[in-house]
Amino acid sequence: MRQGVSGSVVTAVGLSAMLMSCSSAAPHAAAPPPGPAVAVEPLSIGAGAVDTTGGSIPDGQLISPFDVKNPAVEFLEPALLKAIQDAATAAAAEGVDVLLTSGWRSKGFQQRLFDQAVTTYGNADLAAQFVASPEKSMHVFGKAVDVGPVVADQWMIANGSRFGLCQIYANEIWHFELAVDATGACPPLRPNAAG
Ligand SMILES: [Zn+2]
Repeated sequence: MRQGVSGSVVTAVGLSAMLMSCSSAAPHAAAPPPGPAVAVEPLSIGAGAVDTTGGSIPDGQLISPFDVKNPAVEFLEPALLKAIQDAATAAAAEGVDVLLTSGWRSKGFQQRLFDQAVTTYGNADLAAQFVASPEKSMHVFGKAVDVGPVVADQWMIANGSRFGLCQIYANEIWHFELAVDATGACPPLRPNAAG
């Protein structure tokens, strides 16, 4: 099969299929449960409109931090990219696959995630505990990664500081940023993205 030749081609085909199926689906799906903010329903937008999909990774898909052709990885800050790649290499040596459910996100994509969270949680203040606004999200600046699966989150919580990587929010075991201090220690957990 031609489309099986390249992983990125398969991804693009899968995403466009998802976009088409979602934009043509009449009933509105139920709100997704709280969790990694990747369960998005793509909107159909006109060409030249705000980029609401940049950095999006299809729901349930995990990508390698070495997949630098994927914008979610490509546009990470270089220091963070190197740190998560080094961590993934060390984890792999211990039999743990450190993968990403999200990395860099365009401002428009983050806005869409935030808007969806407002719909899900009922108001912006509550939504902000789960999804940062485009002005505050470190994902938009290429300074945050969401790691999966859970075993990888646990490995990162235990070992990430060796690479400068810290869990930031108590309610997001998957979200890591470069955050160690001069002694290599991670800062105290903040309760959530609004805290
Ligand atoms: Zn995150």
